[in-house]
Amino acid sequence: MISVIMCGTSELTTPLQDRFTRVCLELSRKYPDLDGVCKECGCTHLNACVLAENGDERTFCSWENNRQTLCTNPSCLAAAAKKARAA
Ligand SMILES: [Zn+2]
Ligand SMILES: [Zn+2]
Repeated sequence: MISVIMCGTSELTTPLQDRFTRVCLELSRKYPDLDGVCKECGCTHLNACVLAENGDERTFCSWENNRQTLCTNPSCLAAAAKKARAA
């Protein structure tokens, strides 16, 4: 089993997808409270992180909170926890 953690790469990375991810990330930086965009990695439900890959089966991130501003990617959870501690 191969385990990978990639942010915003639910499909094979295409230039468009890459751009989309960057736009999302930019948006999430500018508007950290934007609903539906992870404030850490900028993923959306259309562009979710791949948390694990097992052949054709992929496990995607989901939302950690109801407002959908933080996804369940472990690196995002860790980053958010770090910020909460620093605040
Ligand atoms: Zn995330
Ligand atoms: Zn995610």
